Amino acid sequence: MDYKEEIKVFSSFLKRRGLKHTDQREEILKAFLSEEKHLTADDLYLLVMKKNPAIGHATVYRTLKLLCGANLASEIYLKDNRVCYEHKYGHRAHEHMVCVHCGKTIELRIPEIESLVKKVEKEHGFKLNDYALKLSGICAKCGKDTK
Ligand SMILES: [Zn+2]
Ligand SMILES: [Zn+2]
Repeated sequence: MDYKEEIKVFSSFLKRRGLKHTDQREEILKAFLSEEKHLTADDLYLLVMKKNPAIGHATVYRTLKLLCGANLASEIYLKDNRVCYEHKYGHRAHEHMVCVHCGKTIELRIPEIESLVKKVEKEHGFKLNDYALKLSGICAKCGKDTK
């Protein structure tokens, strides 16, 4: 995959912000897109490092924030409020239900929430590009184990 679309989105976002489109930023974007699962900033740093050890930790962190700003990535909270990142561009909105015990994470779509968001947008003339809903509890397996 060449990630042409995503690179274009990132590029025009950087331009709007008056920032440069650097090779390092693009490498970080590509590494991020190459992994389909939820990633922490450290996971991404390790991926990037394998390809280009010259890219520093801080650059990876800052670039991740930029990817969120460009709507290419979103920040999600998993077990113990660990911050992870996942792809946003071209992906459907979904929620994460997290077991506080074992960390099991289920991705789910709740159509009622999507229509509620649409209703709220319409009422207030807003276009929401992000919202967060925290769903945490005990999964079926852990529920059984603790009985
Ligand atoms: Zn569990
Ligand atoms: Zn997800």
